[in-house]
Amino acid sequence: MPISITRRTLAGTLGAAAGAALFDTGLGRRLAMAAKRGMPEDTIILSSNENPYGPSEKALEAARHFGGIPNRYPDSLEDDARAAIAKSHGVSPDHIVLGCGSSEILQMADDAFTGPGKKALAAEPTFEAVLDFARVLSTEPVKVPLTADFRHDLTKMAAACDEKTGLLYVCNPNNPTGTIMTGDEIAAFVPKVPSHVTILVDEAYHHFVEDPRYRSSCELIDRYPNVVVARTFSKIYGMAGLRLGYAVGQPATVRKMAPYATFSNANSAVLAAAIASLSDPDLVARQRKAFNDARRWLVAEMTKQGRRTIPSETNFVMIDVRGDVVPVIKAFRERKILVGRKFPSLGNWLRVTVGKPEEVQAFAAALKEIVPARAA
Ligand code: PLP
Repeated sequence: MPISITRRTLAGTLGAAAGAALFDTGLGRRLAMAAKRGMPEDTIILSSNENPYGPSEKALEAARHFGGIPNRYPDSLEDDARAAIAKSHGVSPDHIVLGCGSSEILQMADDAFTGPGKKALAAEPTFEAVLDFARVLSTEPVKVPLTADFRHDLTKMAAACDEKTGLLYVCNPNNPTGTIMTGDEIAAFVPKVPSHVTILVDEAYHHFVEDPRYRSSCELIDRYPNVVVARTFSKIYGMAGLRLGYAVGQPATVRKMAPYATFSNANSAVLAAAIASLSDPDLVARQRKAFNDARRWLVAEMTKQGRRTIPSETNFVMIDVRGDVVPVIKAFRERKILVGRKFPSLGNWLRVTVGKPEEVQAFAAALKEIVPARAA
């Protein structure tokens, strides 16, 4: 497939001079191709719940320079980032452990709290990394189907715990459905889970939520040593490629996870960018508005087209295509639009990431052609 990469593309991401220089070496061309998953430059990527706007200007600036110390290990920057994150949560830094993305946090939780002879419990469908890592550790994965309204079945999840259960994963909001559990529901659920089970609440999409009934589970950490919250800089902060996530929990709990982290798992560039992001007071509200406005437009358009959607509080939406989603995904790819993959237990539902308004409009127009509304 012909690839058309321009200096302008790289200039946008790297700064004009750096972009042009890299382009001349051929490395820039490979970087730009990677950013488009090896697809043509005009491909619309709505497949991985990424942030098409990228990091804030301040964060990019910090990542470019990070004090001019690429030759030094990031030790003191790690401390600074942990302190900034802790401050944003109103806790001391010993409540925070950093990860190379929140994926590493999920892996560290599996390492610390599961293993051969133990079980890890999660909803079906949900973000699968926690059960994937569990399998590698010979932990038994246990899946509890979502309720009819596509939310975690917390009653069944609590009831499914036994003496072998080491880890219980709650994805709130849930990927791929975009649904939330309310603050009251989680607060009522946690005391019903045996205290030997660590409850890992993944709040990757926390910042997109507008429903006032939602609350972060960080509010439970003081009272419950078995609650850990995972967060990421990949979504609203737009740094999926830079890689930074973290866990918040009681110091004794996160200390059990920390030994499983890769040494210097957070690099200097992302640490600097994270600190800059946290000191940008408007960033979250600005990004949230952009995504949620585009999502509302998309949902209204889907309703106009006669299609069902799952109510989402995130930067992605599930749309009922009333048939196997695989040929639909393929047809989008042929039109240079990448959408989410198939989730087998919701095989007729297409997950689309909310992109920029023009990307979402292109998606909606293509869907009309691929799955005509009358057949939907
Ligand atoms: N958790 C959830 C619910 C996700 O959807 C994702 C990525 O899509 C992650 C965690 C991993 O994100 P990262 O490792 O980039 O922080």
